[in-house]
Amino acid sequence: MTTVAAGPETNLSPAAGLALVQVIDVHKSFGTLPVLKGVSLEVARGEVVVLVGPSGSGKTTLVRCINRLETIDRGRIYVDGELIGYRERGGRLIIEGERQVARHREHIGMVFQRFNLFPHLTALENVMIGPLRVQRRPMKEIRTEAAALLAKVGLSDKLGTYPAHLSGGQQQRVAIARALAMKPAVMLFDEPTSALDPETVDEVLEVMRALAQGGMTMIVVTHEMRFAREVADRVIMMDQGLIVEMASGQDFFAAPKSERTRAFLASIL
Ligand code: ADP
Repeated sequence: MTTVAAGPETNLSPAAGLALVQVIDVHKSFGTLPVLKGVSLEVARGEVVVLVGPSGSGKTTLVRCINRLETIDRGRIYVDGELIGYRERGGRLIIEGERQVARHREHIGMVFQRFNLFPHLTALENVMIGPLRVQRRPMKEIRTEAAALLAKVGLSDKLGTYPAHLSGGQQQRVAIARALAMKPAVMLFDEPTSALDPETVDEVLEVMRALAQGGMTMIVVTHEMRFAREVADRVIMMDQGLIVEMASGQDFFAAPKSERTRAFLASIL
C-alpha cells in the first residue's frame, strides 16, 4: 500500500499503472461539518474493496467523490490514470466542466441503495439507454449486449418487464446490468442491499460475488459482513472521516487491530 499526501496545489502525477483507483489525501466538508479528513487508498485492477464502519463515518461520501457526485475540498482522485473532477493546466488545477465529468462517469459504474430505474422503460430498455445515449453503435448490437447482461444477472426471462412488476432484488440486478452496460473500469456499490426485502438480498449478493470472481474491480459499501469476509480482497474500516484499519477479508474479522474496529464488530456481529 502506497499512500501519497498531496493537496490540489501540488503538481503530482500518479505513477502510471500503479493502481486503478487512487484516492490521495481527500478532504471533504459539508458546510462546517468535516466528513472526510484526509483519506488515502489505492485499489488495484481486479481488486474488491469493501468499506465498512459506523453510520456517518463518510463511506457513502467517499464513493460519491470517486465518481464526482460530490466535489472534494482537497486531495486528488485518479481513476484509470485520469484525474477526477479537475483538469491540470500549467501545473494548476481547474474544476472540470459537466461534459468532462460525464465522460469520466462513463467508466465508473455506480449502484445505489435505491435503484432509480426508469419506470416507463422495460428492463431491457433500462440497460440499453446508457449505451444508446453515448455510443454510436448499431441498436441491434446494443440490444444483444443488454440481453446478455440481463442473462448474466439471471433475468433473461424479464427483458420486457417494467420495473413496477419486478421485485426489489430483481430491480437491483437490472441496475447492476445497467451499470455494466457502459463497460466500466470500476464498479462502485453504495449499500446495494440495504433497501431490499431480506429474502431478495442474497440474489443481489450472488450477482456481486460472480462479478468479483470474474475480475471486476469493485468498491463496495455494505453492512453485509459475510459478503465482506468471503468476497473482499481488502476490508477498510472508516470512522469519523478517516480510515482506521485496512486488512484482508480474513484478517479483518479474525484479528482486528484497532480498538475501534473491535468495538464496531462487537456492535454488529
Ligand atoms: P456513511 O456512509 O458512513 O453512513 P455518509 O458519507 O453518508 O456516511 O455521511 C457522513 C456525514 O456527512 C454524516 O454526518 C452525514 O449526515 C453528512 N452528510 C452526507 N451527505 C451530506 C450532504 N449532502 N449535506 C450535508 N451533510 C451530509
